[in-house]
Amino acid sequence: MTFKTLDDLTDIAGKRVLVRVDLNVPTKDGKVTDATRIERVVPTIRELSEKGAKVILLAHFGRPKGEPVADMSLKPIAAAVEDILDQRVHFAPEATGDKAASAIAALQNGEILLLENTRFYKGEEKNDPAFTQALAANGDIFVNDAFSAAHRAHSSTEGLAHHLPAYAGRTMQAELEALEKGLGNPKRPVVAIVGGAKVSTKIDLLKNLVKKVDALVIGGGMANTFLAAQGIDVGKSLCEHDLAETAREIDAEAKASGCTIVLPVDGVVAREFKAGAENEVVEIAAIPSDAMVLDVGPKSIAAVNEWVSKAETLVWNGPLGAFEIAPFDKATVAVAKHAAARTKSGALTSVAGGGDTVSAMNHAGVADDLTYVSTAGGAFLEWMEGKPLPGVDILHKA
Ligand code: AMP
Repeated sequence: MTFKTLDDLTDIAGKRVLVRVDLNVPTKDGKVTDATRIERVVPTIRELSEKGAKVILLAHFGRPKGEPVADMSLKPIAAAVEDILDQRVHFAPEATGDKAASAIAALQNGEILLLENTRFYKGEEKNDPAFTQALAANGDIFVNDAFSAAHRAHSSTEGLAHHLPAYAGRTMQAELEALEKGLGNPKRPVVAIVGGAKVSTKIDLLKNLVKKVDALVIGGGMANTFLAAQGIDVGKSLCEHDLAETAREIDAEAKASGCTIVLPVDGVVAREFKAGAENEVVEIAAIPSDAMVLDVGPKSIAAVNEWVSKAETLVWNGPLGAFEIAPFDKATVAVAKHAAARTKSGALTSVAGGGDTVSAMNHAGVADDLTYVSTAGGAFLEWMEGKPLPGVDILHKA
């Protein structure tokens, strides 16, 4: 795996650097409610600015579908970036055109400019050559720091790399290095934990993982589908009975690849899906017909932790139980803490991400103790599915 990074960008004072960042942050009443994504792109912006580049930020915000939508303007986000960077961030109300060009022409070395939402233009999501060219005309160099948008072949994520010398920003670099350690060229044994609600959203992911990992732990609601496919009565648990055949196929593919599938042997059951609901631990073959499994039980936690203890590499997507409501967060928290302790001791490389996994790791208080927690949703999952990521592939080629 090779790609150019900011280390290869010396001598860039006065150069116009187009930097694709992910500023698609959650907001409420125009205020940013979680600035994690902004914080992640700060190192790249700061480094380019310190090297004297004219830093021109490209980003999307929401889904405006190719036309300007007032409440999807990036203008308020420019102010949020400015606060976090503690440095002036100019804003242009266009991504291409005269206003963008004149804002860029006015930039001094080291100054930062955010252009308006790239998805206000129909060409962006079509990777339209004319739109890409209009963007490229504003820069000398392209830096992509938005791994989370790299599963899309859009003008600002892929197209630009055909027109300008292309480099990975620091966040993209960290993400790609972590992913390489996770599944690209991992130390074995490799264990994957996949949990969450449904099998139906993760079929491709499970099929890819059984070919690559030594053990696949299946937890969460999706474990019920696998258990039911083996003839176990899962009572009122979340279960996709129509996917029994798919579950058996995945089982067979795992056997053929020498991957051990680890299913729960006990569960925590309740009759209501609410915090503090009365609950009990039962063997997996003894789930009461009027109850649902909301977490894996203590014997299963011990079994999963044993695999984590044997692993040199751990890849994790999806909680083991309904972690948002106590006490059904117990298994997710216990295993996350064990993985974090092994990672801290240097014995384990741990990569987690996708969907609710970031909030599950935050809930367990381990987000800073794992090797890498990816905030990219779709791109992380597509990586786990083994699919090509156009925004990454083009950096390798560049
Ligand atoms: P996903 O986005 O597919 O990773 O699913 C995450 C969701 O799965 C979380 O909201 C969890 O509450 C839910 N979940 C995990 N385990 C269970 C379970 N045993 N029963 C119902 N929902 C679950």
